Amino acid sequence: MAVAAGVGPQLFGIAAATVLAVVFLATVLGRRRRRGAPVVKRKTAPEADCAAAGGDVAAGDAGTDVIIVGAGVAGSALAYTLGKDGRRVHVIERDLTEPDRIVGELLQPGGYLKLIELGLQDCVEEIDAQRVLGYALFKDGKNTKLSYPLEKFHSDVAGRSFHNGRFIQRMRQKAASLPNVQLEQGTVTSLLEENGTVKGVQYKTKSGEELKAYAPLTIVDVPSCFVGLVLENCQLPHPNHGHVILANPSPILFYPISSTEVRCLVDVPGQKVPSIASGEMANYLKTVVAPQIPPEIYDSFVAAIDKGSIRTMPNRSMPAAPHPTPGALLMGDAFNMRHPLTGGGMTVALSDIVVLRNLLKPLRNLHDASSLCSYLESFYTLRKPVASTINTLAGALYKVFSASPDQARNEMRQACFDYLSLGGVFSNGPIALLSGLNPRPLSLVAHFFAVAIYGVGRLMLPLPSPKRMWIGARLISGACGIILPIIKAEGVRQMFFPVTVPAYYRAPKDKTAPAPLA
Ligand SMILES: Cc1cc2nc3c(=O)[nH]c(=O)nc-3n(C[C@H](O)[C@H](O)[C@H](O)COP(=O)(O)OP(=O)(O)OC[C@H]3O[C@@H](n4cnc5c(N)ncnc54)[C@H](O)[C@@H]3O)c2cc1C
Repeated sequence: MAVAAGVGPQLFGIAAATVLAVVFLATVLGRRRRRGAPVVKRKTAPEADCAAAGGDVAAGDAGTDVIIVGAGVAGSALAYTLGKDGRRVHVIERDLTEPDRIVGELLQPGGYLKLIELGLQDCVEEIDAQRVLGYALFKDGKNTKLSYPLEKFHSDVAGRSFHNGRFIQRMRQKAASLPNVQLEQGTVTSLLEENGTVKGVQYKTKSGEELKAYAPLTIVDVPSCFVGLVLENCQLPHPNHGHVILANPSPILFYPISSTEVRCLVDVPGQKVPSIASGEMANYLKTVVAPQIPPEIYDSFVAAIDKGSIRTMPNRSMPAAPHPTPGALLMGDAFNMRHPLTGGGMTVALSDIVVLRNLLKPLRNLHDASSLCSYLESFYTLRKPVASTINTLAGALYKVFSASPDQARNEMRQACFDYLSLGGVFSNGPIALLSGLNPRPLSLVAHFFAVAIYGVGRLMLPLPSPKRMWIGARLISGACGIILPIIKAEGVRQMFFPVTVPAYYRAPKDKTAPAPLA
C-alpha cells in the first residue's frame, strides 16, 4: 500500500500504473544535480522568486517549485493546474507515448465539473469522446434506466467516455504548452532522503542514463480483476448510458469509448484469473459470461472474444492513509484507490487536485518544508467528504452487486435493483452520489440503509414468517458488515465531521500568492 520516504526501487515497479505527484519545496533549489537529461519538453522557467541555496544547479534547473512523478490523469492535470498558477513544474513520466489501457475510460459528470474548474474541459474534445447520460441496470432479463440528475447544470455537463490514452495525451499536451512546465521522459527508481525529509528522486532517462534530482518524494501503490474487451460496431440497448449487468458471480460493465467502440469490463473474482494464453479465459467468457449478457450485444461480445484482444487489470482498493512527509505529497492512485465498478477514480483525482490547488494558491514560495507539511495536513481532511463518499459507494456497491451463496446477501442485491427501479428520489439520490454530482457521505449512508430496510420490508410481505424474519435480520447485519468496515477505514470523523478535525483549519504561514502567468 502506501510507502513512505526511503522506499527502494522495487516498490516503484510495484507501483506501476499509479501516479506519484510529488510536491517539492523550494529547499530543492541548489540541491538538484542533473547531468543533461533528455528533455522532451522544456521551456524557459520564469524568473525564480525563491533564492537558490547555492550549489551546482544546472542551467535551466534553478527555480523548480514542484516535481510531479507520473503524467497520468492526476499528474498531467496537476502539472497544468500548478503551472497555470505560476509554479515552475518538472514532470517525470516513464512513457510519454499514448497509453493503451483498459482503465479510466468513463469520467463521471462530477469529474467533468472538476475538469471545468481546472480549465481542462477541452481535453475531452477531439478524441471522439461520448456523452454519458446515466446507467442502465440489468438483472435476470429485466432492466431499469438511471439518468444522471443533470437538470440543474449547463447542457454540456454529462459524463464522458473515451480512450484513456487519448484523454491523457490531451492533458499532457496542455500541461506542456505552459512555458513553466517541463515534461520529461524518465522512470523514477528511488527516493533521496535526508534526515527524514524527502529531498529528491533518482530516475533513469529513456537512454538509460541514471540521474539524480534532489527533492522529497513518497510513492505508493483485492483481489479481483477486470477483464477488458472492445466490442466493435455494436449498438447498446440504451445509447449514451453505461450498462451494468448484475451477473453471476459478479458485475459486467459496458460503455462506449468512441463512436464505434464499446468497452466491456468483466469482473472476475479471486486472485487466480483464467489463463488467456491457454484459451481458458475465452472459454470462461463464452460459457459463463456470454449467456448472461443482453441478447442485443451477444454477437458483438462473442466476436470480440474470437478476435482475441482480451486484457486484464487487477482491481485494487486502498484507503487514503495520510503520510505527511516534509516536501512530498501523494496524489491519484498512488495515494488512494477504490473498486473501479463505479468509475470514480478520475473524479476523486481531479477533485483532490482542486483541493490542493486551492491550498497552494495563497503561498508565495514553498521553501519551508516542515511548515508546508503541517499546513498540507488539512488536505487529508478537506478531500474527505467527496473522496470517501465515492470510495465507500464503490466498495459497498461492488459487494452488493456480486452474487453470493448467502440468501440474505442475494435479497440485498435484489432489493437494491428494485429500490433503484422505483425511480424518483430512490434512483436520483444514489445516481447523484455515483456521478460525483452530490458526493455527501450522509446521503450515501441514508440510501444504503434505506435499501436494506426496503429489503427487509419486502421479506415481511405478505406475511412475516420466522424464517423470513431471520433472513431480514441477517440482511441488516450483512449490510452493516459491508459498509461499516469501509467507513471505518475512511475515518468516521473525517468523513462525517471534518469540521471537528483541527487540521481542517490549518492556515498558511506565508500568504502571498505567486503571480499567475499571463
Ligand atoms: C480496470 C479499471 C477500470 C477503471 N475504470 C475507471 C473509469 O471508468 N473511470 C474512472 O474514473 N476511473 C477508473 N479507474 C480508475 C482510474 O483508472 C484511476 O483512478 C486513474 O487512472 C488514476 O490516475 P493516476 O494519474 O493516479 O494514475 P495513472 O493514470 O495510472 O498514471 C500513473 C502514471 O505514472 C507513471 N509512472 C508510474 N510509475 C512511474 C515511475 N516510477 N516513474 C515515472 N512515471 C511513473 C505511469 O506511466 C502513468 O502514466 C479504473 C481502474 C481500473 C483498474
